[in-house]
Amino acid sequence: MTISHLARSIGESATLRLNERAKMLADQGQPVIHLGGGEPKNKVPITAILSSAAKLTAGDVKYVPTDGTPSLKRAIIRYTEEHYGRLVAPENVIVSSGAKQALYNILVSIVDPQDEVIVLAPYWVSYPEMIKMVYGRPVIVQPEDGTFQPRLEEIERVITSATRAIIVNSPNNPSGVVYTDDFIGALVELCERKGIYLIMDDIYHKLVFDGIRPASAYQFTSQTIETTQIIVVNGVSKLYGMTGFRIGWAIASRPLVEVMKNVQAQTTSCPAAVSMAAAEGALTGVQSTVESLRLSIQNNRDVMMTELRTFNGVHVVRPGGTFYCLPDFRAFGGSSEALAEFLLTTALVVTVPGKEFGAEGHLRLSYCGAVKDITEGIKRIRWALDPEAPNEIYIGDRRMVRDWL
Ligand code: PLP
Repeated sequence: MTISHLARSIGESATLRLNERAKMLADQGQPVIHLGGGEPKNKVPITAILSSAAKLTAGDVKYVPTDGTPSLKRAIIRYTEEHYGRLVAPENVIVSSGAKQALYNILVSIVDPQDEVIVLAPYWVSYPEMIKMVYGRPVIVQPEDGTFQPRLEEIERVITSATRAIIVNSPNNPSGVVYTDDFIGALVELCERKGIYLIMDDIYHKLVFDGIRPASAYQFTSQTIETTQIIVVNGVSKLYGMTGFRIGWAIASRPLVEVMKNVQAQTTSCPAAVSMAAAEGALTGVQSTVESLRLSIQNNRDVMMTELRTFNGVHVVRPGGTFYCLPDFRAFGGSSEALAEFLLTTALVVTVPGKEFGAEGHLRLSYCGAVKDITEGIKRIRWALDPEAPNEIYIGDRRMVRDWL
C-alpha cells in the first residue's frame, strides 16, 4: 500500500481517538466520566428541527448553490450586522460543511507550499495539521509567561516574508481565555501593516461569561470588507450546540470568497441542504436557547473552578468563555499524554493531553456536560493524584483503594 508523505505527516485527531476509547469502555459497562468532550449536551433548537424537517418532508433535497442557499446567507448577513456591526454582501459570505471546512478552504486559497501561518499556543489541534495539509508551515507562538495571552512582540518577532496569515481563536479552545480588545486591535494593525491575513475563528464568540464581550476584529479597521485583511469564521456548532449538522461559514472579500467557492465546488459541491435549512432555522428563530446554553455553561465553569481549587498543586487560568479550561498539572509529571492515559485507566476519566494543543504538562478539561460529571470527574482525578484526597473511592459500585501515593 502506498501512502503519500503528506498524508503520513498528518496526526491522528487525539480528541476523536479518546472519544472512541471512552465509548468502547462505556459500551463495556464501565462508569466512564467524559471531561474530554467538545460539544454541549443541549437539545438542538426547535426552530432548527422544524426547518430541516420541512425541507425533508418536501422531499426536495438536491444540490444547492456551492456557497450556500440565498436564504441562509441572508440570515448570516443579518447575524454579521448584529454581532459584528458590519453590513456585508452575499458575495462576501460562503457557507461550508462546518467551520472546519471553512478554515481549510481559506488555507487552500491563501497558502502556497512553504508559506508560513502563525498559530498562537495553546491552539486548537487542527490548525497545524490543516496548515501542513496545504503544504504550508505552521509557526507556533508560545506565550512565555504562562497566562495563555500571547504578546504582540512575540508574534511580530516570527513574521517573515513567507508569512501569509495569523489564526486567532478567541474565546480560545483549549484555554477558555478571551484575548483583550487591545490585543485584537494591535493584531489588526499588525496584519494591515504587514499585508497578511488575520483569520478570526470566532466559533465560541457568544459562549462568554461574566459580561465579557469578545472583540470583533472589524471594530479596529477602517478598511472596507473588500480591502480588509480580516477573515471571520463562525458557525452553528458551538453557538447552538448543532455540531452534527456541520454548518459553518466564512466572511471575506469577494475575490477570496470566489476562490474558496471554486475550492468547495471541486471538493464537496455544496453543504447539505437539510443542514443549511436547520442552520437557517436556528439563526432566525428565538435566540433564548443561546442564552440558556451560555448560562448553564457559565454555571458549569463555576463548578469546575470551585472543584479545581480544592486540588493541591493544580493551577488554572479562569476561563472567560468556551467550555474548556486548561489546568497546569506539571506538579504531577511532565507528560500530559501519560497522565491522561493514567487517569483513564485508573479513574475512568477522559481528559485531553495538553501536548495536543501545544501546552505540555496541562490537561484540557471540558465542562460542557452535566454538573455531576464535573464534580465526580474531579473527585476521581484528585483521588488518583492528590495525596491529601481520601485514598478510598467508589467508581460505579466498585470500591477502589489508592496504593500508589
Ligand atoms: N474551531 C475551533 C476552535 C473548534 O474548537 C472547533 C471544534 O471543535 C471548530 C473550529 C470546528 O467547528 P465545526 O464543528 O463548525 O467544524
